[in-house]
Amino acid sequence: MKNFKMSPKPVLKSLNDYPMGSSMPSFHITEGNAGWRVYRPVINHEKCVSCYRCYYVCPDGAIHKEEDNSFHVDYDFCKGCGVCAHECKLKAIDMVKEA
Ligand code: SF4
Ligand code: SF4
Repeated sequence: MKNFKMSPKPVLKSLNDYPMGSSMPSFHITEGNAGWRVYRPVINHEKCVSCYRCYYVCPDGAIHKEEDNSFHVDYDFCKGCGVCAHECKLKAIDMVKEA
C-alpha cells in the first residue's frame, strides 16, 4: 500500500508500562507474519478484473488496491485462510504452499 506507515513502536521497559486494554499498535508483541501461514494467496494479475470481492471478504484486511487498480496481498498480515481464493469468481487467486 503506497504511503502506508506503521505506528512507531512504543518504548516499554516493564510490564507495568503496558496498557490494560488491547490498544497497542500491531506487531508490538509479535513479529509481522509470525510464521504459521502454510499457504499464501498469489493473485494472477492476468485474470484479475479488480472487482474488489477479495478485498471485501478478507477477514484480516490484508488485500489492498494500488493506484493502477491492481490488487495486492500484504503478507505481513495475511493469515493464509484462503477465503479470498475461494470467493474469487474468476479463480484469479492461487493458494501456494509456503517454501
Ligand atoms: S476477487 Fe479475484 S478478480 Fe476480484 S479483485 Fe480479487 S483477485 Fe481480482
Ligand atoms: S488468505 Fe485469508 S487472510 Fe490472506 S489475503 Fe486471503 S482472505 Fe485475507
